[in-house]
Amino acid sequence: CIILIYLTKKDYILLMKLLKSDFDKLIIDNTVKEYMKKKIALQDTSITLTDLYFVRFLGKGKFGNVNLVHNNKNLYAIKQVSRKAVEKQKILARYFVNERRIMLSLDHPFIVKMVKTFKNNYFCFFLMEYVNGKNLDEYLARSNVKKCNIDETRFYIGNILIMLEYLQKKLIAHRDIKPSNIMIDSNGYLKMIDFGTAKVLHDYTNTVIGTPHYISPEILSNSGYSLSCDFWSVGVCMFEMFYGVYPFGQHATEVLQIY
Ligand code: ADP
Ligand code: MG
Repeated sequence: CIILIYLTKKDYILLMKLLKSDFDKLIIDNTVKEYMKKKIALQDTSITLTDLYFVRFLGKGKFGNVNLVHNNKNLYAIKQVSRKAVEKQKILARYFVNERRIMLSLDHPFIVKMVKTFKNNYFCFFLMEYVNGKNLDEYLARSNVKKCNIDETRFYIGNILIMLEYLQKKLIAHRDIKPSNIMIDSNGYLKMIDFGTAKVLHDYTNTVIGTPHYISPEILSNSGYSLSCDFWSVGVCMFEMFYGVYPFGQHATEVLQIY
């Protein structure tokens, strides 16, 4: 690692020079090394579609599958969506442009990192960081436990609030915070994986969007809402984690009943 400050095109000041051997000695802690390796791999945008090999199926999204792939060096998750479906539905096309733009602008340890997007004749692909873990909703649905104790709840809600603080600094409203959009990674921390509903909000908006049990009253009221709508959904998640049931509409049979 060499850090130079250029004064003109030719003149520079050598600020720091660190040999690889010294750098390795400084980073004795393997977790830091692994974290940095992973981070560097996620910045490699030279990967092409033909570099990637299918490993296994990871999960089903609303519009297509998410698979685990590798490029002989690293593992990635790739979300694929049929171009036919996207081109047929204008709303879907807008959703993808939006998700891509927002995800590429984000870089936070509690948010899945998007590497790049590809297209071929049949599909659009999102290449992302692979989260080696479980969905939070699968975790909450553990057959006989179904809830978290106070410490776990505090920890998970703390994770979500740190992530939300980062989004709000960027004026992004997520609008669909819920356990099925969050994963628990191999270190036990949370990662938000889905940004299909996120939007940059400079002031207020009216679009009704979200998931019935988690949607805030101000979104439903149709009189305009701003970034704070996400706090409601975090509150619902907190209640669900701690009590194992929804705070509103647990036994509702229709969406309107929940509202
Ligand atoms: P959609 O936006 O269509 O709802 P999601 O992004 O929520 O799709 O992904 C669907 C499922 O795929 C998730 O529930 C999860 O199980 C899996 N998945 C998505 N992204 C990743 C990822 N980066 N790493 C591992 N699994 C993932
Ligand atoms: Mg989802």
